[in-house]
Amino acid sequence: MAEPVAILGAGLAGNLLAILLARRGFAVTVYDRGAAPGAAAAPAGRSINLALAARGIRALERAEVFAEIRPLLLPMRGRIVHEPGGAVRFLAYGQHEHERILSVSRAALNRRLAGIAEQRFGVDYRFGHECVGFDAGRLAATVRSAAGESRIETRLLLAADGAGSMVRQSLAAAGAVEAREELLDHGYKELVVAAAPGGGFALDPGGLHVWPRGGFMLIALPNPDFTFTATLFLPHRGQPGFDSVTPATVAAFFDAEFPDVLPLVPDLERQFALGPIGSLGTVHCRPWSHSGPRGIDRRVLLIGDAAHAIVPFHGQGMNAAFEDCAELDRLVALLGPDWEAVVARFEAARADDARAIAAMALENYEEMRAAVLDPAFARRAALAFELERRFPGRFVPRYSMVMFHPEIGYAEARRRGAIQATILDEALGAGDAAAGLELAAERVRERL
Ligand code: FAD
Repeated sequence: MAEPVAILGAGLAGNLLAILLARRGFAVTVYDRGAAPGAAAAPAGRSINLALAARGIRALERAEVFAEIRPLLLPMRGRIVHEPGGAVRFLAYGQHEHERILSVSRAALNRRLAGIAEQRFGVDYRFGHECVGFDAGRLAATVRSAAGESRIETRLLLAADGAGSMVRQSLAAAGAVEAREELLDHGYKELVVAAAPGGGFALDPGGLHVWPRGGFMLIALPNPDFTFTATLFLPHRGQPGFDSVTPATVAAFFDAEFPDVLPLVPDLERQFALGPIGSLGTVHCRPWSHSGPRGIDRRVLLIGDAAHAIVPFHGQGMNAAFEDCAELDRLVALLGPDWEAVVARFEAARADDARAIAAMALENYEEMRAAVLDPAFARRAALAFELERRFPGRFVPRYSMVMFHPEIGYAEARRRGAIQATILDEALGAGDAAAGLELAAERVRERL
C-alpha cells in the first residue's frame, strides 16, 4: 500500500510538492484552510501576480508540468523605469534571449497545479481545513473543519503553510525550533491598472514597470486580461507613509509622484480604501524540522515560506519555494522514504541558500527604489554585461545568477556577487572607461 504523506497548505509549494510526491507513488493528502480554488479570490496579504524565473521553471519542468503552465505566462525582459521627471528608461535584465522573467497570476498558477495534482495524480485535497495547532510532543497537527476536529499523524508532515506558519509558531513555542520574524518598516498595497479604453494594455507589457522614488516605489506587472497589478511600497509611518497617505489624499499623492499612473487607475480612492496593507518580512528559522521521541516514528518539515519567507524585492520567494520542492524530490528519488535522511540532507542542502537569498532580497529593495535612478547604475550594468561577454560563464552578473542560472546556488551567487561588486567599484572609480574595463578584466582573471 502506498505510504501516506500529508501536506499542510495548498499554496505554491504545497501544490507542487503534491504533484512531485504523488508521481513517486505516495498517497498525498493536502489540507488548506481556504476554499477550493476558483471558489475564492487570492487571500488578502499575498500578491495577485508574481514573477517566475529560471529556478521555478526548472522545478516545474522536473514535475513535467511546465508545458501546462506556459500559457499563463507573460514575459518581461527588463525594468521599465519611470523617473521622477517623467523620462522612461528600459534596463534589460540580461543580454541573452532567454534572460527574462515571467509574470503569472498566483490564483491561476495555484489552480492549475492543484488541478493537475488532483485530476492526474489522485491527490486528496481537503479545503476548509485549518491547522489550529501542532503538538510538538506527539508530532501531530490538529485541523479544524466544518465537520469538527481531526489529527494528522503521518510519518511525514510537510508544513507548507506559508509565512505565518502555524506549525512553525507551535514548534517555536514548544522550543523545538528557534524562529524569528524580522518585519520591514515598509508595507505594500496592490492596485489594479485598468486595460486601455479601446482594449489592450495601457502600459508596455514587455517589462516590469518601476517608479523609484528613493524612500518608496510603485511597481506594476502585466496580467493576461490586459490589466496590470501595481504594488505601492511605502513606509508604514512617515511622509509619505501608509499613515499619512489616505483615501482622501491618495489622488494628490499620485498626482505629485506618479502622474502618469493616475489616469490609469480611475477608481484609485476606492481601491486604496478597500485594499489591505500587506506586511513584509524575513523569517529566520532553525532547524526546519522536528522528529518524534523514541517510539514515535513521525516528523515534520517546514518548507517554502513557512521555513524561510523573504521580502519580495528579488522576486524569488516562490522560486525558492519551488526549488525546495525539487530538492526534496531529488532526495526522495535518491533515498526513498527514509525520512530521517531525506530531511537531514534537505536542510543541509538548503539552509545556506535560504540565508543568502533572504539577504539579497533585502539588498534589492534599495536597488529598485533608489539605485536604478543613479546614472552610475546603468554604467555599472553595462560594464557587468561587457565582462560577461568577455568571460562567459566566469563573470555572470549577480542578478543573472539569481534569476537565470539555477545551476548556481543562491549562496554561491552571493559569494561571487560580492567579489564582482568590489571589481566593479574599482573599475568605475578608475575614471577613464577603457582603463576601468582593462582593470576589471585583470581582476576577473585574478579573482573569479
Ligand atoms: P503560500 O503561497 O503563502 O501558501 C501557504 C498556504 O497555506 C496557503 O494556501 C494558505 O491558505 C495555507 N495555510 C496557511 N495557514 C494555514 C493553516 N493554519 N491551516 C491550513 N492552511 C493554511 N515570489 C516570487 O518568486 N516572485 C515574485 O514576483 C513574488 N512577488 C511577491 C510579491 C509580494 C507582495 C509578496 C508578499 C510575495 C511575493 N513573492 C514572490 C513570494 C511568494 O508569494 C511566496 O514566496 C510564495 O507564495 C511561497 O509559497 P508557499 O507555498 O510557501 O506559501
